[in-house]
Amino acid sequence: MKTSVWNIKEAVDNHSLLKEAATLLQKNEVVAFPTETVYGLGANAKSDEALKKIFTAKGRPSDNPLIIHIASIQQANEIVEEIPEMAQVLMDAFWPGPLTLVLRKKAGLSDVATAGLDTVAIRMPDHPIALSLIREANLPIAAPSANLSGKPSPTTAQHVEKDLAGRISGIVDGGETGVGVESTVVDCTEAVPVILRPGGVTKEELQRIIGEVKEDTALHNKEAAPKSPGMKYTHYAPEAPFVLVEGSPMFIQSLMDEKKAAGKKVGVLTTEENKEFYQADCIIPCGQRSKLSTVASGLYDALRAFDECNVDVIFGEVFPREGIGEAIMNRMMKAAGHTVVKEK
Ligand code: AMP
Ligand code: MG
Repeated sequence: MKTSVWNIKEAVDNHSLLKEAATLLQKNEVVAFPTETVYGLGANAKSDEALKKIFTAKGRPSDNPLIIHIASIQQANEIVEEIPEMAQVLMDAFWPGPLTLVLRKKAGLSDVATAGLDTVAIRMPDHPIALSLIREANLPIAAPSANLSGKPSPTTAQHVEKDLAGRISGIVDGGETGVGVESTVVDCTEAVPVILRPGGVTKEELQRIIGEVKEDTALHNKEAAPKSPGMKYTHYAPEAPFVLVEGSPMFIQSLMDEKKAAGKKVGVLTTEENKEFYQADCIIPCGQRSKLSTVASGLYDALRAFDECNVDVIFGEVFPREGIGEAIMNRMMKAAGHTVVKEK
């Protein structure tokens, strides 16, 4: 399949290139587009034929439901049974933005999109291209991250091309995404909202608006079954084994020295502050430790970069689990398959 790439520097409604992309969506083809979190792989949420193409292109397990992207509250009303007060408050505060709400779905909504659940995940993205494209297509657009399943999510059109060229109809290139980690998924079907996946909107920000917020127990307990099906899959992993280290740069260097002595090539995922400290075959900073939002936006590009440098093992620094740090550590723990070495 030929994959068209449209370079769109500024999104204007009626943009002729966006029209081409929107027409393909209306013809039930799949098209990747930028959002403020990561690139999404979009398809008509009303067509099972279109939705199935997403699962095929990504190699995504069919029991992992999709987030439906909308550009107006009217579109939300077509998808969900009702918008409870709590969800309304969160929409008013955070939409458009990196917050996905899980609500009771309207009867008739595709079981392919929701993996047979009686709930649906919806979000209004805060990106002019995403919003224009959804408006132009005049459809709710189901869109998971536009990567091959298991790989780090794409934060540039080039990441999407690397994974999906030849497998999808088109890519709207709108440059780098901003937030860099996916949306926060919040279940609004019970009395108190529950975070199913940490993301671009932090727990602290949610609490400031809504008061009590719970977290799915599976987020901090590997044995528990997650309420969000996607959270059970390995994800974000670079090709070489990735080990997180709770310890000083000196300790990380000592671990790398042991590997080097055994003839291994080593990589380290670090920060601007610490990058000069290390001696390794591949040293990749993902942002500034003093500004965690830069780590979030640089994390997936950094994880992908290790695949270019042929190392045998990668060690990674950890981050405080505060604010956006919670989402960063959630993704890093998954990338590392939960392997953490602690300095004594
Ligand atoms: P992705 O779009 O690849 O970033 O993944 C979307 C995430 O939202 C996955 O973890 C899904 O399991 C989760 N999700 C989508 N729909 C639902 C739903 N109805 N209930 C719970 N989690 C959901
Ligand atoms: Mg994903």
